[in-house]
Amino acid sequence: PLKVMPVPAASLKLNTNEEIDEVYSRLTATFQSGATRSLAYRRKQLLQLARMLQDNHVAFEDALLADLNKPRLETTVSEVAHLITSTLNAAENLESWAAPDPCPTQEVWRSSWGATLYKEPKGVVLIISPWNYPLVLTVNPLIGAIAAGCPTVLKPSELVPTFCELFSRLIPKYLDPNAYAVIKGGVPETTHALALRWDHIFYTGNSRVGRIVATAAGKNLTPVTLELGGKSAAVVADDCDDLDLVAKRILYGKIQNSGQLCVAPDYALVPRAKVAAFVDSLKKAHDEFWPEGDHPLTGSQPISNIIHPTHHAHLVDLLNRTKGMIVFGGEIHKDKSIAPTILTDVPVDDVLMDEEIFGPFLPILAVDDIDDAIRVINSKPIPLVIYLFTTQDDLKHKFLLETRSGQLVVNDTIMQLCAHEMPFGGQGESGYGMWFGKTTFDVFTHRRGCITVPFSDEPFFQGRYRPYTEDKYKA
Ligand code: NAD
Repeated sequence: PLKVMPVPAASLKLNTNEEIDEVYSRLTATFQSGATRSLAYRRKQLLQLARMLQDNHVAFEDALLADLNKPRLETTVSEVAHLITSTLNAAENLESWAAPDPCPTQEVWRSSWGATLYKEPKGVVLIISPWNYPLVLTVNPLIGAIAAGCPTVLKPSELVPTFCELFSRLIPKYLDPNAYAVIKGGVPETTHALALRWDHIFYTGNSRVGRIVATAAGKNLTPVTLELGGKSAAVVADDCDDLDLVAKRILYGKIQNSGQLCVAPDYALVPRAKVAAFVDSLKKAHDEFWPEGDHPLTGSQPISNIIHPTHHAHLVDLLNRTKGMIVFGGEIHKDKSIAPTILTDVPVDDVLMDEEIFGPFLPILAVDDIDDAIRVINSKPIPLVIYLFTTQDDLKHKFLLETRSGQLVVNDTIMQLCAHEMPFGGQGESGYGMWFGKTTFDVFTHRRGCITVPFSDEPFFQGRYRPYTEDKYKA
């Protein structure tokens, strides 16, 4: 098995601009040669990718443990295992995904034109991914790019240096190095890469950088997918009686990767009369997750690290400035992690409500009724997801009609990520463009319309030619 040594951020060997240009030229030449087009080639690369994941799952666990203190089981379950399934699923369905789509026409005489959409690779593409789920957010889009026949440059986050080193060693070992390459870089290297003319850019990360990526892409008219974040609300409706279960599901969603997950429930909207009981239920769930004698910061199964001392300091600053009341949690492991923290009496205009928290805090806002909850959600930019807890089907429809979000999930958190074939994506501030399963193949595919107009159709066309005379239109 591969030995993974932790790589300190300062030791990550970044690519030079010349190396980035060389990679770009190499992959462009490969695309132009047509080498990535055949389905047999794409299938082979997908199977190799699955093999890479399978052979090295322990190495990936080691890397994410070193970079994020991510529990091994979380890496296996949320990063490696379903990627293997998704890769094999793409290999298995490749033929049907890539098959041309006939476009039936209404008029009988046009049916002979054989209107068809052919699926063609867009070209050389760039995938830029963040640190929080570094493997899944790099490889999942890659699966679609390989399946579509696109040579791909991968730019993982420099904030997970051990992962970056490992990934950049493995990709050329398993995949065709003339078609798939990893760039190691931070802001300057990514800025250089963004100035090149890509055929698609797939970016996952925060909205501020999303704007930078979209602006750079705009200069070359490059299509972009932006997978961003936002303030995803969890709404507890008045009819929820089993608050223990609701709290357990919300807390589970909040503590994954210490709240550093794009679809983490950011804050909770709870009927005023139920807040105290909901807090009790959260405490109960917390004590189930970390039983007597165990502790999220120092126990046998500690919570993941906060990625960076700067983000840690930002979260501590939020705790210092909030007008809310910490009802439990709040313990801080200097520069490393923070215990799951529940706050009540949080006003709508509190610092915790300004931006996506991306940390293990759950502010609870008391609301008068469901319309009040909807008003709070609609006063914010469109979130990636709304989690609604209710037993009433009507409420789901009310939310579908009266709110906007990337997804609406009823009665659980995060599980939309397990609906692999349901296209996933944000709206407004939470991004644009959809992906997952076949939809990721579609992201990197140009659907090229093609018709063949028979010469024998000439009698139908007499009216289109000059001179435009009355008798032609009468006919
Ligand atoms: P990050 O800091 O790792 O940045 C993401 C990528 O952008 C990295 O590869 C980084 O090198 C690059 N980058 C950073 N600054 C740049 C600049 N000025 N110019 C060009 N490139 C630059 O990760 P992050 O942004 O902190 O990631 C967390 C955010 O991502 C959260 O907002 C989260 O909600 C969002 N997210 C969204 C999804 C989704 O699927 N919608 C998934 C995960 C994370």
